[in-house]
Amino acid sequence: MSIACLHEQKLVQHVVSQNCDGLHLRSGLPRTAISELHGNMYIEVCTSCIPNREYVRVFDVTERTALHRHQTGRTCHKCGAQLRDTIVHFGERGTLGQPLNWEAATEAASKADTILCLGSSLKVLKKYPRLWCMTKPPSRRPKLYIVNLQWTPKDDWAALKLHGKCDDVMQLLMDELGLEIPLYNR
Ligand SMILES: [Zn+2]
Repeated sequence: MSIACLHEQKLVQHVVSQNCDGLHLRSGLPRTAISELHGNMYIEVCTSCIPNREYVRVFDVTERTALHRHQTGRTCHKCGAQLRDTIVHFGERGTLGQPLNWEAATEAASKADTILCLGSSLKVLKKYPRLWCMTKPPSRRPKLYIVNLQWTPKDDWAALKLHGKCDDVMQLLMDELGLEIPLYNR
């Protein structure tokens, strides 16, 4: 909810998430401002329809899906084709435009002056050089601020590493900015 607030205040431009739980979307962040790099368990898509037709569900669509097996067992009401989940498993390459939204993530990274990494081990994310502007010289890359209780492979590159809980750090940040964390509204 803090992140959604910071976006509304134009202090955060874009959110890149590895979570599949769809919570960033539920927090009220607009679709354009989020890249769910590993999918969203509440969204299934028809890739036969052009453009892809999305079905946003209130239930988990991944109950029958698995690695390399993405069909959800439901069909598109428009064209009758099998729907698929949007999840990117370890070892898979995500190809869906949405909800992965790689284009916006790459664009945001290229313009960012700061990247705040909250609670990710960064073990998978470090493999996406586009997110870190690794083609730019180190002095021109975005400043990294990492909040994590454990070591991450990006610690040596961080302007600041905070060994703390994300909730605690975000509460302090919001206090400092004089912003109230909005209540989550189901
Ligand atoms: Zn369809």
